Amino acid sequence: MKETYLGVNVSNLTYSALIEAIFADINKKKKSMIVAINPEKVMKAQDDPELKKLLNRADYQVPDGIGVVLASKLKGGKIKQRVTGIDMMLNLCEEAAERGKKVFLYGAKPGIAEEAKQELIRKYPNLQVSGTLDGYEKDETKIIETINEGNPDIIFVALGSPRQEYWILDHLDKISPSIFQGVGGSFDVISG
Ligand code: UDP
Repeated sequence: MKETYLGVNVSNLTYSALIEAIFADINKKKKSMIVAINPEKVMKAQDDPELKKLLNRADYQVPDGIGVVLASKLKGGKIKQRVTGIDMMLNLCEEAAERGKKVFLYGAKPGIAEEAKQELIRKYPNLQVSGTLDGYEKDETKIIETINEGNPDIIFVALGSPRQEYWILDHLDKISPSIFQGVGGSFDVISG
């Protein structure tokens, strides 16, 4: 269920189908990577074949940009709705709270992920955040241990793009979460 724009795949599942597919992956313990596709990433990918491959390697490419929605409309495609990376993250948190799944927040400057955690719990009181870690920790063993400790189902990675996407690819099989989403500056936004 993908459409391709300038060589970059975009998922054309509806929002609710996307959420159901992701939680089905969690229940099967399948590893999946979510990436938000915006015009900036599509343009960068034109001169960077490795980045293009990486974006296409993701399991779910959410259409984060009105350009993708318009392009789909022009080509008679099925993408009707823009899904920003941060909205996807908030929706996953809301659903995780309802379905008893745990999330981990990794990235941003020291203290920010913790503030974002407090804000998310205020919004979704049943949300289980298994832990947080800033994006400037250099000790690889510590990073892996801290994430694995609370056995999260979903990890949000806020290291900026495309660094976070490369980090995800490198860690998919090294750490316990099932779902990996790169979220850029979202923790800064959520923490206010
Ligand atoms: N960041 C990080 N570690 C780094 C470099 C950046 O955790 O080594 C964080 C930074 O603090 C910010 C986020 O990554 O929270 C990048 O946000 P930006 O809005 O620049 O990313 P974009 O959405 O443009 O990918």
